[in-house]
Amino acid sequence: MSKKYFLRLYNLILGTYLRKGMLFLNKYLMTPGPVPVSTEVSLAGARALIGHRGREFSALFSGIETKLSRLLRSGGCTVIFPSSGTGALESLAVNFTGPGTKVISVSCGVFGDRFREITALTGAEMINVDVTPGEGVQPAVVADAVKANPGASVLLLTQNETATGVFNRLDEIIAALPKDNRPLVLADGVSSIGAMPCFPEAWGIDGLAFASQKGLLTPPGLGLVWLSKRGWDAVSKRKCPSYYFDLSRQKKDLEREAPENPYTPPVSLYFALDAALDAVLADGWLELRARAARAFAAGLEALGFTLLVKDAKFRSPGVTAFYHPSGATKEIEKNLKGLGIEPAGGQGELKDRLLRISHYHDVRWPEITLALGGLYAALGDENRKGSGDFMRAAFEAWEAK
Ligand SMILES: *Cc1c(COP(=O)(O)O)cnc(C)c1O
Repeated sequence: MSKKYFLRLYNLILGTYLRKGMLFLNKYLMTPGPVPVSTEVSLAGARALIGHRGREFSALFSGIETKLSRLLRSGGCTVIFPSSGTGALESLAVNFTGPGTKVISVSCGVFGDRFREITALTGAEMINVDVTPGEGVQPAVVADAVKANPGASVLLLTQNETATGVFNRLDEIIAALPKDNRPLVLADGVSSIGAMPCFPEAWGIDGLAFASQKGLLTPPGLGLVWLSKRGWDAVSKRKCPSYYFDLSRQKKDLEREAPENPYTPPVSLYFALDAALDAVLADGWLELRARAARAFAAGLEALGFTLLVKDAKFRSPGVTAFYHPSGATKEIEKNLKGLGIEPAGGQGELKDRLLRISHYHDVRWPEITLALGGLYAALGDENRKGSGDFMRAAFEAWEAK
């Protein structure tokens, strides 16, 4: 199929989105959080408020807990804080670490650094392991750090490093750790849960922090924390210096016959999350994310972009980071925004050098053509000449399943 044909198709699809009002303020949001929220989720969040001390709220809360258990394939409860993902990370830090706790922190980007910084504030003694941004964390590197530091009781990992689009294989990393006296594994799953497989109980994660506005397809405002049995044992033995983020206090109210929240929960967001969980629990959802990521990556490369993550094994199913070798990345970002498509730039050191586009949400073939067609138009005359048959490349990857 010719490029011209695909461009016409692209315009048609863009027009359809505009007519359906799916472009928010004429913008198609492709930032890695917040992600576009479906009409079902928006409407659920607009329901009439209910009180948070009563049977109706308890039923809503229980339903969410059941769905989260299915999503994580893990038992026990998930604490839900009115906070963003950073609050959930902070709650792990203050409940598990304090002055003198030896913590191994593995970071491959901005968010790994943030988890480290939050934890260091508790007075913990940090042992830092840094992996080059754009590269995945190799299990042997973590295992070596753990063996070299037998006094470390906590290990910090990031499942999906949103700043670079690296998807770390937490299952493989944890499986490679020494079995005796293994540190408690605390994982940042803020941008992975919902869009990528994460089964903390089976994998051996002890504390998992996540949030509503990325893979969970809900508006921003909820920070969630799941703990293993070993994790709950550890926090119950410590005195948490935070009142609001004390996990044990939350668990007590959650485990009542009619679960409650110790403080006023953002009830509207609970309604929205409950509706959004149905979408991420649908059959084939995770496979669809991976498939969209592969198709998008193939199209990007044919357009002449370079993917930051070289090893396909570590490419995120939810967000892709890329740049143009001509050095025109910033200009392409500007052009793309001018077309009504909102990507994100880089973060930290990579600020002006990267473009990031998310596909956590319901991205299928139409959305892939929208993003790639938009990028083709945004390339500028010179760089456009160097682009190949990107729609064919993307479509072949899409069809390959
Ligand atoms: C977005 C993100 C965070 C921070 O979440 P906020 O909700 O913005 O506080 C932390 N870690 C990762 C991996 C993220 O993607």
